[in-house]
Amino acid sequence: MKSHYRAVVIGGGVVGTSVLYHLAKFGWTDVCLIERSVLTAGSSWHAAGGFHALNADPNIASLQAYTIDLLSEIEQESGQSVGMHMTGGMTLAGTPDRWEWLQSAYRTFQSIGIDDCRLITPQEAGELCPIMSTEGIIGGMWADREGYVDTTGTVHAYAGAAKKRGAEVIENNRVLELHQVVDGWQIVTEKGTIHAEHVVNAAGLWAKQVGRMAGVELPVSPLNHHYLISDTIPELEQLDFEVPMTVDLEGFTYMRQDQKGILLGIYEIDHEHWMMDGAPWEYGFELQQEDPDRIERELTLGFERYPALQTTGVKTWVNGAFTFAPDGNPLVGPVRGKPGYWCACGVMAGFLQGGGVGKSLAEWMIHGEPEADVFGMDVARFGDYAQNKRFIKETTGQFYTRRFVMTYPNEQLPAGRPLKKAPAYDGMSAAGCRWGASYGLEIPLYFAPSGDFTETPTLKRSNAFEIVAEECKAVRENVGLLDISAFSRFEVSGLGAEVWLDRIMASKLPKPGRAKLAPMLSPEGRLKGDLTVFNWGDGSWWIMGSYYLREWHMRWFQDHMGDGVKVRDVTDAITGFSLSGPNSRKVLENLTDGPIAELSFMGCTTLDIGMLRVKVGRLSVAGELGYELHSSAAEHITLRETLLEAGADLGIREYGFNALLSLRLEKSFGIWSAEFTQGYTAAQTGMDRWINWEKDFIGREAALKEREEGGPAQIVVPIEVNATDADASGYEPVWQNGKRVGFVTSGGFGHTTGKSLAMAMVDREAAAEGTELAVHIVGQERPARVIAASPYDPSGTAMRG
Ligand SMILES: Cc1cc2nc3c(=O)[nH]c(=O)nc-3n(C[C@H](O)[C@H](O)[C@H](O)COP(=O)(O)OP(=O)(O)OC[C@H]3O[C@@H](n4cnc5c(N)ncnc54)[C@H](O)[C@@H]3O)c2cc1C
Repeated sequence: MKSHYRAVVIGGGVVGTSVLYHLAKFGWTDVCLIERSVLTAGSSWHAAGGFHALNADPNIASLQAYTIDLLSEIEQESGQSVGMHMTGGMTLAGTPDRWEWLQSAYRTFQSIGIDDCRLITPQEAGELCPIMSTEGIIGGMWADREGYVDTTGTVHAYAGAAKKRGAEVIENNRVLELHQVVDGWQIVTEKGTIHAEHVVNAAGLWAKQVGRMAGVELPVSPLNHHYLISDTIPELEQLDFEVPMTVDLEGFTYMRQDQKGILLGIYEIDHEHWMMDGAPWEYGFELQQEDPDRIERELTLGFERYPALQTTGVKTWVNGAFTFAPDGNPLVGPVRGKPGYWCACGVMAGFLQGGGVGKSLAEWMIHGEPEADVFGMDVARFGDYAQNKRFIKETTGQFYTRRFVMTYPNEQLPAGRPLKKAPAYDGMSAAGCRWGASYGLEIPLYFAPSGDFTETPTLKRSNAFEIVAEECKAVRENVGLLDISAFSRFEVSGLGAEVWLDRIMASKLPKPGRAKLAPMLSPEGRLKGDLTVFNWGDGSWWIMGSYYLREWHMRWFQDHMGDGVKVRDVTDAITGFSLSGPNSRKVLENLTDGPIAELSFMGCTTLDIGMLRVKVGRLSVAGELGYELHSSAAEHITLRETLLEAGADLGIREYGFNALLSLRLEKSFGIWSAEFTQGYTAAQTGMDRWINWEKDFIGREAALKEREEGGPAQIVVPIEVNATDADASGYEPVWQNGKRVGFVTSGGFGHTTGKSLAMAMVDREAAAEGTELAVHIVGQERPARVIAASPYDPSGTAMRG
């Protein structure tokens, strides 16, 4: 062991060894891994080793696909067998809804280029896995590249391949303390102190403690998990092939062959957390006592699915722990305020995701940004609120129990809620508000006219369709009131504010009393924000964005901070409402003698509104005459009451984000996580129209290069879909004459235009207005065509008038 390394990885499980391997592979060879015990001594040794393609987040599904390809590569490089059994795999559906979902998922896979899947009938499923009863199965999805590996072999293959590239592995050496120093980290271990510029927390079951060593409180908890391995099954002995890795979603089980028996793993409805503050240091190769009573329901279903289990003994029980984040995805990336401290934790499927995690993290550490859009596993997708133990317990428990339960796109899950409520929450609830949650905050979805209305979970248009239609109508014809507490607000001040903003934003800065849409780019020219900058005219500026990106944006701001500038997140201190619709100005005229009539489109100022001093911006996501009003949180209730009273005779109606999503689609306005992501460049999304090429800004060189080279191969376009009872939602494949030319970024129904609309990222050759396309919606192919931008009010008269 040396006293100095460029990077030290803590943890010799599948994740830590993958990070080590990728660091070495991408050129950092002065790296070492420190393991408390021996390699695999956490969750990794007792994993079932299964890998499969399915993941609800397509970006994570792509990284899983990468991992699967990598396994044979590390085997070759290291000379260590990973014990690969590429059996193929099946995911089975036992309800009509689930079958529809599986058909959609199949199309999603096509969208992201995973082409080795196909839908199968129950009969085919039975032929592929003769020991399985097909009772109750409606259909399934087959994927060629699924199977299982030997877990210990795989960890050693990652480590061996890393060592061959110059990395070091030090076992039997616990990291005891971490100290942040000017140029990195001091790592105090049992065998001495090391200095490193970078330290990676890949401590698996101990991630919580290794986080706390650096003052980082990670939203992660271990949960117990059972599988059993059966004795030899005579029917399997007769087969000349291995049965496929099989996931029975309705049965809560996964199954793979294990020698001449099977391994049956269970996602436990009655789940059990284990050592929420991290595993004991002396824990290693032990397991928890099995508890068949707690999983009796799932076992019964499993024994019915694989009837041979009813007459075959159980050879081995495994009840071991692995870690979960609140949404079940990994926690990867740098931590704000801790330069050089990196996370690779909360990986609940290390053999399936470890390769992608290692690759992304190594790219991030070496190049400053990962290649793919990894927001879905970025540690910054959670804020401080998620550090609460009860929140972690409820949300991780919910994820675990629902791992194989179908969640509908319009379904709101209860765990960890309500957590953050805007002050007017109770008033809005009394008015019928139905809530969703984003980054811990309750956000209004729509207002149900009757108290006993219940929205039916569905993949198609729901029974809230008409309610949303009415809300859209109110906005288009009169005036709608929307709680915009779910916008983030950063106050930028100091003598260096303007210079800093001018460098970090790619657009021109607004003049005093004006606001401007501002793309923010990475040095690689990819999007880091679709923000709005306000110049309040008194030396203070605001940056406004999406609430759930607060931590993510703040980390970026701090990493790119300038001299003499202060950025303060004032999001929870300042709340607000927006007024949208032709009568919105009249509402404000009832409340102010200020120059509201003179406030032109994209203007901003401070006005007396009723008894309140309010910051007002003339903007509208809905594409109408509109105003965004910001007041302190203490004034939120009064602001709502004041506006509702002043608008009573003008047809004012409260509405929610479901209607806003429809209204903005009719204007072809993109939103983050759909049309805009860190995976796309500004030119791909149309954001480049806001770029000021005359100035210097972060990402200019890359954006200019893309422009000079003729622009991107794919761009976002608005499309109209010939749909009847369901609309596009995202990641559906887009076809032209049977050839896949792109995918949907978002979709929905335009209630004013009466059209099913979507935005799609398509090849430039298929992007011209009028191009005939097809889109799969809930598994069904539908005709579609590229339309001109903004099917509602294309000239923008309503918004600018
Ligand atoms: C029963 C069961 C079945 C599973 N089946 C599958 C499956 O089929 N497919 C799949 O992909 N995943 C499966 N998993 C999940 C898989 O085991 C985990 O995702 C994976 O092992 C996580 O790896 P890791 O490297 O993050 O953590 P770990 O394996 O826990 O490794 C962390 C390492 O860090 C070391 N460490 C911790 N603290 C320190 C310190 N202070 N100093 C030095 N070293 C330290 C530990 O000793 C340990 O070796 C299963 C899990 C269980 C419990």
